[in-house]
Amino acid sequence: MQKELPSKANVVIIGSGVIGAGIACQLIKRGIDDVVVLEQGEIGAQGATSKCIGGLRTQFSTAINIRFSLISREVFRNFKEQFGIDLNFRPYGYLFLATREKEWSVLLDTSRLMTRLKTPLELFTPQEVAQQWPFLDVKDLVGGSYTKDDGFYDPHTVLWAYVKKARLGGAVFIEGAKIGGVLRSGKKITGVETTKGHQIKTEFVVNAAGPWAGQVAALAGLDLPIEPLRRHLFFTDTFEEIPDVFPMVFDLNSGWYMKREGKGLILGGPSGERSFSNDVNFDAEEWTAIESIRRVPALERSRIIRGWVGHYELTPDHHAVIGAFPELENFICAAGFSGHGFQHSPITGMLVAELITEGRAKTEDIYPLRPTRFREDNLIHEPITAFRE
Ligand SMILES: Cc1cc2nc3c(=O)[nH]c(=O)nc-3n(C[C@H](O)[C@H](O)[C@H](O)COP(=O)(O)OP(=O)(O)OC[C@H]3O[C@@H](n4cnc5c(N)ncnc54)[C@H](O)[C@@H]3O)c2cc1C
Repeated sequence: MQKELPSKANVVIIGSGVIGAGIACQLIKRGIDDVVVLEQGEIGAQGATSKCIGGLRTQFSTAINIRFSLISREVFRNFKEQFGIDLNFRPYGYLFLATREKEWSVLLDTSRLMTRLKTPLELFTPQEVAQQWPFLDVKDLVGGSYTKDDGFYDPHTVLWAYVKKARLGGAVFIEGAKIGGVLRSGKKITGVETTKGHQIKTEFVVNAAGPWAGQVAALAGLDLPIEPLRRHLFFTDTFEEIPDVFPMVFDLNSGWYMKREGKGLILGGPSGERSFSNDVNFDAEEWTAIESIRRVPALERSRIIRGWVGHYELTPDHHAVIGAFPELENFICAAGFSGHGFQHSPITGMLVAELITEGRAKTEDIYPLRPTRFREDNLIHEPITAFRE
């Protein structure tokens, strides 16, 4: 049953996606039970989480992203103990393909970094890629990088496990409550206001509004460069000409990708437009068909049966924003994951809960993710992304 909007709460979280719900869960775990999660629509029905494909990979080019994946992977591995749910992990692996020297050099640097962090990847020549996965056309490849322990979860199972656990601990989730304003007093937020004029007084606000996080920050007078980046995905009918199990294949140059989904396939279509539009367009389907057949010639005989558009929450350097602006100490940003927020939701929940309960994040140094890095022009770039801008 939908609860009534309260007039005060210790912590207000804006957004009930996998990040907001994960934070609520961790706050409950740390004894903060006066938590309200406000959702403009319905839980799990819109936002990036609703279109996510549930991948967790360790192949990133920065130490902070790799460590975020390793810590989060441990939480997912022990999910049953904490949440009572088996996540049915599918360890398909991730394979990134480089067709240009520039991309290959990123993969070489990544390999060195991952070895230092004791989570090595395997580098393959084009011939080795073809030997392992003969359905891939490798004639334009410089090489590939492979992490066999990466794979897939079901994002909806994870989201609802967070929601259920947080609710059991006392957190209140309210749907149809869009935040349209914040109440400020000096360097503090004192409350939030819904678009219908209901005010909630609070000690902390967490901006977990995904692709809308830039808009929510603007309500508080803050400049947070997070934009929605459209991503087309297409789904094929049953396709049995390639194996049932193979890694997620990414083409670093084009941004195309392919993964097994049941008996069919998910094909990653074009990305690049910054807009909240959900429209699937024919040009995108055509691009996806051409790229798919170029990399996997057998796909000429496959059939695309549906498609959708999701929105990545894009920052200029493709890293998340976690922390507060110095001019508004109790307004904590946890957004801008740039396409990898599902897999980093466990560590983000821990870090934000630490910020709120202990005044600082302890599990990881989040200084590189501070929201002021954009205006300081001090970015940390992540080139290994699932999209092209
Ligand atoms: C096609 C696609 C595939 C992806 N695949 C992967 C993957 O394989 N692995 C991975 O790790 N990540 C993946 N991602 C990224 C991942 O989905 C996101 O990083 C993650 O879901 C972000 O979660 P979130 O809670 O921050 O945002 P969201 O899920 O967008 O949640 C934000 C919520 O805030 C609400 N909201 C916004 N404004 C307001 C307001 N003013 N008041 C109240 N509520 C508000 C929204 O309605 C929304 O429900 C993918 C994304 C897409 C689009």
